Amino acid sequence: MTTFDVVDPSTGEVFAQASDCSAQRLDDVMAAAHAARDWGEDDAVRVAALVAAADAVLAAQDELAPLLAREQGKPLKAAAFEVAETARWLGASAELGLPREVVQDDERGYAEVVRRPLGVVAAITPWNFPLLLAGWKLGPALRAGNTVVLKPSPFTPLSTVRLGEVIERVLPPGVVTVVSGGDELGAWMTAHPLVRKISFTGSVATGKRIAAAAAPDLKRHTLELGGNDAAIVLDDADVGALARDLFWGAFINNGQICAGIKRVYVPESLHDELVDALAERAKAVRVGAWDEPRVQLGPINNRPQFERVRGLVDDALAHGATAVTGGAPLDRPGYFFAPTILTGVAEGVRIVDEEQFGPALPVMPYRTVDEVVDRANVTSFGLSGSVWGTDTDRASDVASRIDSGVVFVNDHLTLEPHLPFGGVKWSGVGVENGHWGLEEFSSLQARYRARR
Ligand code: NAD
Repeated sequence: MTTFDVVDPSTGEVFAQASDCSAQRLDDVMAAAHAARDWGEDDAVRVAALVAAADAVLAAQDELAPLLAREQGKPLKAAAFEVAETARWLGASAELGLPREVVQDDERGYAEVVRRPLGVVAAITPWNFPLLLAGWKLGPALRAGNTVVLKPSPFTPLSTVRLGEVIERVLPPGVVTVVSGGDELGAWMTAHPLVRKISFTGSVATGKRIAAAAAPDLKRHTLELGGNDAAIVLDDADVGALARDLFWGAFINNGQICAGIKRVYVPESLHDELVDALAERAKAVRVGAWDEPRVQLGPINNRPQFERVRGLVDDALAHGATAVTGGAPLDRPGYFFAPTILTGVAEGVRIVDEEQFGPALPVMPYRTVDEVVDRANVTSFGLSGSVWGTDTDRASDVASRIDSGVVFVNDHLTLEPHLPFGGVKWSGVGVENGHWGLEEFSSLQARYRARR
């Protein structure tokens, strides 16, 4: 069996090996998943399986959390929360249903619409929330009666492999299998003839490749891709009251979150007050390794992403930006970057136009609401966005003009199992969560019975 290195982002050193799934092994796994595809013909079996999976994950929290924290870099407390949320999502999927709908019942005939499983689902996840995003896929895929082959990012394979072992124990063989490997393994999965559905979370570039890979075989696909979320602060906002939530809406998970705040727009009159409040928080936040006491933010997860964030910040500074705080890596081993608040930037500078996915936030002044709505929408992304103000009706009106799959008022990032989540434009295709997400793991069958 071949293996690949797993690096601790707090040190930059290799600390473990993960198995590298070969094409031959993938064929075997796919064949087993295909053979198991009738596992959930009885709806009660699927529900019981998800309840058991949720319980098993929660019971393994003390084992999964340190593994996740070490390979991802997030603080242990945040990793434990992610494990608990993964279990919560699996449990919430058990409560969803795919009821058959009677759409005709008259003298001509009886018609009902039912939802059937698709078969083998290829699930592919990124490195920022490996377990939670796996749970977002496993829950509905299993609830709808499919089997799943799941591949985590090569930067964070270990916790998902362990999650798979924990879940596999409570399911029939072949229903869930986790395979680890590099990007090539993902490409083999999406091209595999036994796969009927691809559920992917990751970058826009990979999402486009996957859409192309799905085309020859017309595989169904759900793509949850990047974001460049704008937070718009209105002129009646109480800056003191919102600064905390705004800060964490951007910096949670060290900014490595698809639907985090990536750009802040604030009226000129409130600009300096807001920048000061955000900078104060950025300076006070405790950055450190996952197992350091009271740590709030860890390192960036991997070297390419660390270099990308550094490059975007350097580029902004070269274009006249000011780093009110931060602006550079921390002077220690690993991929630590100081929480950074940038001013003096605008559209046309890369950190505003692209997804930074790291701990650096541009804050930009605006004059009118029409102007700021245009600026929020002038992007290829459309994942989420938020509007902050005291008059919540007015804030809701502005929020409804944001071109994205999710909008928040006086909040950013509340994600719940019952709320559909997905982007428009380059941020994705389809949604996850709620019955909308569940339906994407099934196909409709219309059944018509004539009465003659
Ligand atoms: P990535 O696209 O590089 O990798 C994601 C996964 O895809 C990994 O498992 C990778 O091995 C695999 N992969 C790479 N090439 C592939 C290919 N050709 N075919 C199939 N699989 C392939 O993304 P990343 O760097 O791991 O994650 C960061 C990105 O994910 C950011 O853009 C972020 O916004 C996005 N993201 C989106 C959401 C969302 O729900 N919308 C959530 C989290 C992260």
